[in-house]
Amino acid sequence: MKHSTHIANPDVIIIGSGVMSANLAAMLKRLEPALSLQVYEVTDELAQESSHGWNNAGTGHAGICELSYTPKREADGSVNVAKAIGIFEQFEQSKQFWSYAVASGMVGHPKEFINPVAHLSFVHGAEQVDFLKARHAGMSAHHFFREMEYSTDRAVIGGWAPLLMEGRAEMPVAATRMDSGTDVNFGAISRKLLAWVEKQPGCGIASGHRVVGLKKSGAGWEAQARDLATGKIVRNTARFVFVGAGGGSLHLLQKSGIAESKGLGGFPIGGQWLVCDNPDVVKKHQAKVYGQALDAAPTMAVPHLDTRVLDGKKTLLFGPFAAWTTKFLHKKGRWTDLPGSIKADNLVTLLKIGASNLPLVRYLIQQGTQSMADRMEVLHIFYPAAKTADWKLIDAGIRVQAIKKTDGEAGIVHYGTEVITNSERTISALLGASPGASVSVNIVLEVVKMCFPHLLATDVGRARMKEMIPTYDVDIKLPQHAAEFRAVQQRANQLLELG
Ligand SMILES: Cc1cc2nc3c(=O)[nH]c(=O)nc-3n(C[C@H](O)[C@H](O)[C@H](O)COP(=O)(O)OP(=O)(O)OC[C@H]3O[C@@H](n4cnc5c(N)ncnc54)[C@H](O)[C@@H]3O)c2cc1C
Repeated sequence: MKHSTHIANPDVIIIGSGVMSANLAAMLKRLEPALSLQVYEVTDELAQESSHGWNNAGTGHAGICELSYTPKREADGSVNVAKAIGIFEQFEQSKQFWSYAVASGMVGHPKEFINPVAHLSFVHGAEQVDFLKARHAGMSAHHFFREMEYSTDRAVIGGWAPLLMEGRAEMPVAATRMDSGTDVNFGAISRKLLAWVEKQPGCGIASGHRVVGLKKSGAGWEAQARDLATGKIVRNTARFVFVGAGGGSLHLLQKSGIAESKGLGGFPIGGQWLVCDNPDVVKKHQAKVYGQALDAAPTMAVPHLDTRVLDGKKTLLFGPFAAWTTKFLHKKGRWTDLPGSIKADNLVTLLKIGASNLPLVRYLIQQGTQSMADRMEVLHIFYPAAKTADWKLIDAGIRVQAIKKTDGEAGIVHYGTEVITNSERTISALLGASPGASVSVNIVLEVVKMCFPHLLATDVGRARMKEMIPTYDVDIKLPQHAAEFRAVQQRANQLLELG
């Protein structure tokens, strides 16, 4: 469905309709009902890029199962769990905000966007078993992960996830499990929030509109959006612009000309899944199972065997596999995106990145040239009895990894999400990917704190935010807040029907 509501000269222009933009639009409108805003989206339907259900893994990243968040300390063999704790806390904020949206009638039917799916980590081989044991010791000591179970017993692990053990040869294995994991359809929650936003006074959504220019205008910005149906350019101004254009953000930042965009680059990595077509196999698995990264794979390419719930139907995905591309967007991207992003100010950084990341380059070449048999070999690490006939390969979304020039280093490929804001705090843009969608509420909360501090400076504003995210001003990591955290978590879980 095409959206065609237009607000002239709003307070805020939001570019893109993915999960970041949807959360920001809804949060700002709840925080200040008088605020006017306009969303522009290049596709006709909303949230069709990275946030779309089939384009990402839908893991509600909470640090439970992702082994890449918990590095081993070489000195004593213990495991550093600080990052996992941080991500857990941020995902709880997403759950709180979405449960508030349910409680206040902004969105309905939580099962259409979030479902309980146990999160497991699975390893094999003596060294990895030792690592998982140390990780479990570190994790379960914190009140966030108190319920995490650990087992090396094949029968127990087979009970948790039968496919892991079907046809598996004798070898040391170990797994951890927490029942409180989730599968999230980030596209569905985005569309629900934006449907609410569009009905509010002073809010417009124009889809089928590609923002092609951004320039300074007085104290704010002028956005030029091309209506793809008529070819006409619409000009609109706002004091604040949020560039939530996913893979399209880098080009727009470059067009804005802000000093903070200088030297930034982007490197696209396509994704692919194996999807299981056999309902008997799908039925047997009810978990998200993460393992260790393979060889030189970047952390975002750690393979996992994933139960998904999409459009009310349970399915089974394995991946992601990386795919070579020069496009920055899956749906409306162009082959010229990567070459078009190379500018005088980022050329040297990009060249140095290529030279200093040869293992990554080799990994991408290996991934891009692999056959179905090669992919099945990786799947067999998780599910030894998998049959090729049950699986087909489909495309996932594209991640544009942010590349930054840093002093003293050749440049850094960032696997996280980068928020770029100008010194006047009139424009914020998001670059990068995972665990982006899961922590999107925390990311937009930071944007609100930085760019709209006046909205949180009053008792009314703080009370409204507290209603939306009860722990936004509490450090729930600390043991003295464990009971408060449990109470808030329980309420969010009930509202989201997570059991
Ligand atoms: C393979 C893969 C697996 C992933 N798995 C997970 C996971 O399991 N869990 C998790 O939390 N995260 C995951 N992620 C990351 C997550 O999908 C993203 O962080 C998140 O969806 C980004 O949301 P966004 O709103 O920034 O971007 P998007 O959802 O991409 O939205 C950007 C929007 O902007 C629009 N747009 C672009 N350019 C323009 C323009 N010029 N004018 C107007 N509109 C424009 C696009 O069409 C799009 O709708 C994964 C990503 C990939 C690719």
